[in-house]
Amino acid sequence: MANEYLNDFRNIGIAAHIDAGKTTTTERILYYTGRTHNIGEVHDGAATMDWMAQERERGITITAAATTAHWERFGKDYTVNIIDTPGHVDFTIEVERSMRVLDGAVAVFDSSQGVEPQSETVWRQADRYGVPRIAFANKMDKTGASFELVLGDIKERLGAIPAPIQYPMGEENDFKGIIDLVRQRAYTYTNDLGTDIKEHDIPEQFADKVEEMRAQLIEAAAEVDEAVMEKYLEGEEPTVEELVAALRKGTIAQKIFPVLCGSALKNKGVQLLLDAVIDYLPSPLEVPAIKGTTDEGGSKEFPADDKGELAALAFKIMSDPYVGRLTFVRIYSGTMKSGSYVQNTTKGKRERVGRLLKMHANQREEVQELKAGELGAVIGLKDAGTGNTLIGEDDDFVALESIEVPDPVIT
Ligand code: GDP
Repeated sequence: MANEYLNDFRNIGIAAHIDAGKTTTTERILYYTGRTHNIGEVHDGAATMDWMAQERERGITITAAATTAHWERFGKDYTVNIIDTPGHVDFTIEVERSMRVLDGAVAVFDSSQGVEPQSETVWRQADRYGVPRIAFANKMDKTGASFELVLGDIKERLGAIPAPIQYPMGEENDFKGIIDLVRQRAYTYTNDLGTDIKEHDIPEQFADKVEEMRAQLIEAAAEVDEAVMEKYLEGEEPTVEELVAALRKGTIAQKIFPVLCGSALKNKGVQLLLDAVIDYLPSPLEVPAIKGTTDEGGSKEFPADDKGELAALAFKIMSDPYVGRLTFVRIYSGTMKSGSYVQNTTKGKRERVGRLLKMHANQREEVQELKAGELGAVIGLKDAGTGNTLIGEDDDFVALESIEVPDPVIT
């Protein structure tokens, strides 16, 4: 199948109320994903944290509008582009803009606070833009932390169906690890850094709770999948594969929202969160094609296809001390090549694409092209602004600005 490479892509944002732990979660994600792909040196143990502290000082990690990372799942390499979504309430317009370039998001909640007003605002924006989500109940180590508070708030305040795919082993000071409710395995952290995990059977003391939570999980999956529903009605257990498939389908359709837990500060739960990003959030092939408006006011779709006509959106402009103006783009269709010319239909200008970069957590990689589904930075565009449409030099006018909110699709 053409464009098969896109199955291994996840373009995600991390959305949160200020202080819920977005920065900490992002740093941990970048640490794990950077290490897996062996970008730069290999970092271990304490050196890891040093590296993150240095990165933070240099401000490289989190200021990139889109960071390209890698994560391995079942022996396969996945590309995870992490798009920086502003978190503060004053920047809701910025949040709105960035929602357009996401295929999925991780909503981070502070488990001691539940769903806070600002999280609600961002959640509604994600609803409007049709962004599938998984939720991360962070700060499980904090006094007052309660996984069930987060589940309850998702239901009551957000009116959404939570699918608890994990359960914490202990809360507050007793937070020791995580139970995977889908595969029915437990993971205990064996070092203070949170980097070593031991997998084992579910401890007896959690058996009742696991049964209760798993019932909630299967009910959520049954809402979106007939096979699981049939088994549920007959009192049978779905297989792991059936359950994962049902959850994935329901998540992409934004009918249900898998909920995970952990502590970004203590570095617990982040690897499992990355696994869930791969398992449940969509690839660019699984989201509705972006639409544009033509000259005559007609609508044109751009399915994710690197051989199609070029359609890209500039979503953030940054100024870099070394190379000047960086225009972050998402390519929806076609391929953008360095040294080529594009039309900026928003500004009515023809512009030359200079160099193209992929931003990694601790290095930049110069590339010759960016393909459909990819994100990166362009050096050399003088006029492009946030939200501008870029298309092929000789292609007919189209503006991606007037994107309609796509209806969720269940396949
Ligand atoms: P952001 O505003 O959402 O980016 O939040 P930060 O990542 O900057 O975190 C806000 C504060 O919460 C910082 O003081 C963090 O150290 C702290 N924090 C983040 N994650 C956790 C966690 O898992 N547990 C605890 N106890 N504190 C956390």
